[in-house]
Amino acid sequence: MHAIGIFGGTFDPIHFGHLRLAEEMAEGLGLARVLFIPAGQPPHRGAPRTAATHRLEMVRRAIAGNPRFELDAREVESPRPSYTVDTLAALRAELGFEQPLWLLLGADAFLELPTWHEWRQLFELAHIAVAARPGAQLLQSEVMPESLKNEVSQRQRTDGPVSGPAGSVLLRQMTPLDISATAIRDTLARHGSARYLLPDAVLDYIHEHQLYLHT
Ligand code: ATP
Repeated sequence: MHAIGIFGGTFDPIHFGHLRLAEEMAEGLGLARVLFIPAGQPPHRGAPRTAATHRLEMVRRAIAGNPRFELDAREVESPRPSYTVDTLAALRAELGFEQPLWLLLGADAFLELPTWHEWRQLFELAHIAVAARPGAQLLQSEVMPESLKNEVSQRQRTDGPVSGPAGSVLLRQMTPLDISATAIRDTLARHGSARYLLPDAVLDYIHEHQLYLHT
């Protein structure tokens, strides 16, 4: 049974760092599909600045033409703030208990995991694949919170086949792309060029709707 990747984020806006992460994970882990799930009101990060309709449409345009990539709007359509653990539990119920699931995270997001709601349950619901990210601390180093280190040490796998539907943690290299949505927003707010940091279709949408004109 081919595994499915689950990739959440504020995507404010989506950029090539996100898209390369998903593509390299899909290839490396043999994922049949990657679900992009834009966050509604991320409980641990404060409200995203850009309306969900815009963030959804930008993701839709960015992934158009990639048959493995899909947009999943459940979090922005939910009237309540969505926790990743609840989204994963819902997907697990829909897809069945045998289905291998991979939660895809950048290293900075992974290091914050112990601040997430019911975070230890995430390991019961999915495997977790972590992508190195320029600027994020090395995962093996002492910056990893003790609680996370304890949880991960039993679960960490080196590259190679991972069995079962959930429970392993894999740290993976990816082409380092030092791109962040924050830097893109800052560039656009000072009327700089964000070209080649994100797909043209997304940049066109941003200009059409006059997004990110102010910090
Ligand atoms: P912001 O700058 O607004 O915090 P961001 O660029 O970090 O945004 P998010 O939508 O918060 O984007 O990120 C979603 C996921 O993608 C997170 O797991 C994050 O770690 C990962 N990610 C984002 N950019 C990169 C990148 N350049 N390389 C690797 N992982 C990334």
